[in-house]
Amino acid sequence: MKRILLIHTGGTISMSTDQRTGAVKPTDEHPLHQYGHLFEENLEIIEEDIFQLPSPHVTPAEMLLIQKRLMTAGEEGIYDGAVLTHGTDTLEETAYFLDLTTEAPFPIVLTGAMRTVDEIGSDGVRNLQNAIWTALSEDAFDKGVLVVMNEEIHTARYVTKTHTTNVATFRTPTFGPIGIVSKHEVRFFQKLVFTETYPVDKLTKKVTLLKAYAGMDSTLFDALADSSVDGVVIEALGAGNLPPQTLPGLKRLLEADIPIVIVSRAFNGIAQDIYAYTGGGKHLKELGVLFAPGLSGPKARLKLLILLEHNLTHKEIQDKFLK
Ligand code: ASP
Repeated sequence: MKRILLIHTGGTISMSTDQRTGAVKPTDEHPLHQYGHLFEENLEIIEEDIFQLPSPHVTPAEMLLIQKRLMTAGEEGIYDGAVLTHGTDTLEETAYFLDLTTEAPFPIVLTGAMRTVDEIGSDGVRNLQNAIWTALSEDAFDKGVLVVMNEEIHTARYVTKTHTTNVATFRTPTFGPIGIVSKHEVRFFQKLVFTETYPVDKLTKKVTLLKAYAGMDSTLFDALADSSVDGVVIEALGAGNLPPQTLPGLKRLLEADIPIVIVSRAFNGIAQDIYAYTGGGKHLKELGVLFAPGLSGPKARLKLLILLEHNLTHKEIQDKFLK
């Protein structure tokens, strides 16, 4: 008998649709509790409602709560896999937080839904079934935390929500999904070249994410320099460049020893130090700005938040982002 720990956290997958107004709202009883019978007879599913939140209400504090539950589940030694249902808005962030912080002896898979269980063409039960099959797969080990949506298997590190409502919303820019669930078959065809874990049992730092735009100036950087921020991530232009007017504020933050990490606001590709003009990536690097190639802004923010708990130097932080 295999055993799956199924943790519900809320999101559309746990909500219902008012047929008259179309409003999507939380329900008293989690609708997925009725679907246990759909799974194999030789499978025991232990369900836990750790909290019931729309995912825009989820913060790193809730992510840490899930991480702690998964770590104790690992110590209990009775589970073959863990599946989490989660709202899709911040699913990729919880998934990556768990990827960076959780050591567990079983695969961890997140899933959600774009439609409520009572909507026509609902995707939640199918996504849950595919997530459970993936968590049970012998091939799901050593691939980091996984996200299964719409019959695709993605890594927590690179997956992102790309559409507001379409069921095919979760995509992995640049690299693609690492597997598929085709009918009953779970098939992997790619693997991350490395996985990494940085244990944390508390989160005490403040890390902010900014997006660059044409004509951006130092206003936001000055405001951050006047606040108590511990780190800043910037979704920079193109390959990793900023308008020159941002530099006075940026330098204030660097002088205060605040790490600044650059990712790209472009959907595909990686941030790199290429351009040597004022505000170009090479110039930013010379000033002491760090680069996080391949990560999105929200993911780099979580990684910096976690790394800052480990009291690393800027150079050590840079090395961890270049891995
Ligand atoms: N707004 C919802 C949430 O993230 C969307 C969803 O679950 O798909 O909780």
